Amino acid sequence: MSASQAECRGFEPRLPLLKREYFFQPFMLKNSADLHLHTFFSDGFLSPAVVLKNAHRQSLKAVAITDHDTIDGVADAIDEGHRLGIDVIPGIELTASTNSDEMHILGYFINCEDIVFRKALGKAKTKRRIRLKKMALKLAAINIKVDFESLIKFVGQGVPSRLHLAHFLYSKKLVSTVHESFEKYIGFDKPAYEKVDAFQQQEAIELILSAGGVPILAHPDRQNIENIIQPLISMGLRGLEVYHPKFDEMESAYFLSIAKKYNLLITGGSDCHGKGRFSPLIGKVKLPYEHVIKLKECATAIQV
Ligand SMILES: [Zn+2]
Ligand SMILES: [Zn+2]
Repeated sequence: MSASQAECRGFEPRLPLLKREYFFQPFMLKNSADLHLHTFFSDGFLSPAVVLKNAHRQSLKAVAITDHDTIDGVADAIDEGHRLGIDVIPGIELTASTNSDEMHILGYFINCEDIVFRKALGKAKTKRRIRLKKMALKLAAINIKVDFESLIKFVGQGVPSRLHLAHFLYSKKLVSTVHESFEKYIGFDKPAYEKVDAFQQQEAIELILSAGGVPILAHPDRQNIENIIQPLISMGLRGLEVYHPKFDEMESAYFLSIAKKYNLLITGGSDCHGKGRFSPLIGKVKLPYEHVIKLKECATAIQV
């Protein structure tokens, strides 16, 4: 796993996020949106209702719940959104395989009742549990004892992820920081790493489209974006996550230029999992609401 992907998952960002400048200054925007939020239904720490309460504190007009490979948190978020007057976009963040590791595809305005979509997510969850078991066995082989039943209890109702394992190792004092779990054991190319048996890229994009959703490339990587963007567009990708806490102003400007070059939709969000080094990231990236309207128009066109 690359450093940027570790950061994406929001637990122990390596950069002092509060000191970084964002392209959109959070306090200057009204009618703004945070379109990348996780709950404890994947690997976040907060319930959907608490995420919405935090969104309300940030004066957000719209949010998207984009848990990894699950839509289980969406309904509760919509209920709380109604109560608080916040638009909640049903979303997801699917993991897709690449040659080396993985990429993340966000899906917005998903039809959560779609049976095919739900079945595919059920299979993905099973595969993730198997992957976690394999990583626990690899850890055992290097004398890091992980009780799998305790680990599964620790995961709770979430979709099993490396972050759960990283936090579990930290909770058992087997590492001194969550980040160390990745650096020493479960990061890409480390001894207990196990590649996720994820969706293929085309499969992930088609799955989102077939459930009426808009597929967007999450937290793109500057190193490879020019190589991968056209094939992804030909598979049906509609947009790019241009604003993310790991991007500084120049990086966002670069991805904005890519989005314009390929006529892609623009999204952005905090990728908040409920914990950051200083405070939850929610609201650290605020996207003007006009981009939500464009997303909605795209979803409507897909759903026709
Ligand atoms: Zn991600
Ligand atoms: Zn995410």
